[in-house]
Amino acid sequence: MGSQAPMVDIMVVFDFDKTIVDCDTDNWVIDNLGFTEMFEKLLPTMPWNTLMDLMMKTMHEKGVTKEDIVEVLNRTPMHDRIIPAIKSAYDAGCDLRILSDANRFFIETILDHHGIKDYFTEIHTNPGYVDENGRVRIFPHHDFTTAPHNCDNILCPPNMCKGVVMKQLLANEGDNTFIYLGDGNGDHCPSLKLREGDCCMPRKNYPLWGVISSNPNLINAKIHGWSDGGDLERVLLSLIHDLLSNKQEKKGGHQSLAKVDFKLKNNVPRPSREVLPPALSVSQ
Ligand SMILES: [Mg+2]
Ligand SMILES: [Zn+2]
Repeated sequence: MGSQAPMVDIMVVFDFDKTIVDCDTDNWVIDNLGFTEMFEKLLPTMPWNTLMDLMMKTMHEKGVTKEDIVEVLNRTPMHDRIIPAIKSAYDAGCDLRILSDANRFFIETILDHHGIKDYFTEIHTNPGYVDENGRVRIFPHHDFTTAPHNCDNILCPPNMCKGVVMKQLLANEGDNTFIYLGDGNGDHCPSLKLREGDCCMPRKNYPLWGVISSNPNLINAKIHGWSDGGDLERVLLSLIHDLLSNKQEKKGGHQSLAKVDFKLKNNVPRPSREVLPPALSVSQ
């Protein structure tokens, strides 16, 4: 662990799949253990999250062990600038969270493998654990049979509305400036909750980027795109740098920018505010 600066009232909320890691972890596990065909056959018949628990049951019955799954998870592709980006944001004093529709077992296994689990204050995701028989269990974040999340955004799956979680975070931790990073359709709902002054970092040319581009005025936060891990690091650190400078100016205090400045030195020129491509801009 790096030594963390005093907390600086910036919360960075990361999606996990295709944001921290460079694939969908559910697909990665299913594909690498040879269950793709069965998964695709059953997907039209039930919610994704329900199917994942069923797939874990089937795998267990067919002799796939927890260790087999961990071995696959440990090989999950990740861009080599993601871990430095996480460490720098932590060292700058940011409160780091994960908000993911994957599951706790997959996420914690991967973070543990890379020694970065403790950089995150909390992981908001679907419950996932190994039961006493060695079978991985995966459950919905919101139990949609007894307590549905009631979000009418069609992009939110029944098991998890990230917007509901984001609203809770804003209610409890609203003094922080929020930076949200994501790629998928499910990341639109939490992006809609962000306030003016917060930042939204959609991955360029992924579904969230497309949804935002089709109606950018719905997002109150400033939008800063990124395309790969190196880009994520540059954009994120420059945003943190700018927020820290602004906060320092307002306070007239002497909050240290040294750490984040140091990280920025080796990076390419700072990106300016992201402009959405004209082809994707809204006609209004
Ligand atoms: Mg994702
Ligand atoms: Zn929602």
